[in-house]
Amino acid sequence: MKRFLVLAAATTAVLAHAQTYPGSRPVSIVVPFAAGGPTDRVARDLAEAMRKQIPGSNFVVENAAGAGGTIGTNKVAKATPDGHTLLLFHIGMATTPALYRKLQYKPLEDFEYLGMVNDVPMTLIGKPQLPANTYRDFENYIRANAGKINLAHAGLGSASHTCGLMWQSAIKLSEAMTTIPFGGTAPAMNALVGGQVDVMCDQTTNTVGQIEGGRVKAFAVTTSKPLSGHKLLKDYPTLQEMGVKGFNLTIWHGLYAPKGTPAAVTKALNEGLKKALKDPDFIKKQEALGALVVTDNRITPEGHKAFVAAEIGKIKPVIEAAKAFAD
Ligand code: ASP
Repeated sequence: MKRFLVLAAATTAVLAHAQTYPGSRPVSIVVPFAAGGPTDRVARDLAEAMRKQIPGSNFVVENAAGAGGTIGTNKVAKATPDGHTLLLFHIGMATTPALYRKLQYKPLEDFEYLGMVNDVPMTLIGKPQLPANTYRDFENYIRANAGKINLAHAGLGSASHTCGLMWQSAIKLSEAMTTIPFGGTAPAMNALVGGQVDVMCDQTTNTVGQIEGGRVKAFAVTTSKPLSGHKLLKDYPTLQEMGVKGFNLTIWHGLYAPKGTPAAVTKALNEGLKKALKDPDFIKKQEALGALVVTDNRITPEGHKAFVAAEIGKIKPVIEAAKAFAD
């Protein structure tokens, strides 16, 4: 009887919380990479848009970088499921199960899916000191300097790592490059701009400003079609056009809560997210950075989860072919 009363009291507390959610406590969006990078950028713009859409709310961004995003992701998987700790992650949700033999979370089981945010192309960029100005010269330069090239990325399973792996293996130059992991592509970008590393493949939400400012050289985009609608990216060829057969990589970002978050809370968050994704300021900011805000069924929790499940199936053989595993 006593146990029943305790349980009933706990259920009432959760329900009351769900009805008043989010109340005065801030909602923390965990970004599993360093501040100032592309995922962080999306999270900060999204936090602002969500704040506007959920009256009285305060969405804040928390960076928990390391191990290709798996540290921050695991932190959210284990967090109290009360809607005050969320995760903004990307394609890593689908790549990490294939890369890590001892992953501490299960992407399809340990989270409540809130919805997908955007699709983001990637760009292949190099340090400004490189003698090459076109993709062909760049690839020739790598061949000529095999063994001396450093490719920067944000850790095993990160988007930059996946893109780097796919590209190296497509052009059969895996042996030519040493991969250098960082806690995110913000610090990796600093190293590239400073000339300490040679090459990186990163989300346009990080690279557009640097390309525009002439601080890095851009050689190609990773999408199957040219980005003709974007004022800067339209000038760069796709990897496919450059002879890298079948290369096509667009990454995405999604929003998640720990498993067990009350349904009323996940519903409020999904509704807030849907409204935020229609916010003209948010759309404008994302488009300027080459990202496309989601408008299709992937905006729903079920639609996004089905998409991630399909991505896991698609990416696994690519990673297995590249033979890059971590414990
Ligand atoms: N762009 C990074 C990646 O490669 C993550 C980041 O720093 O946002 O996954």
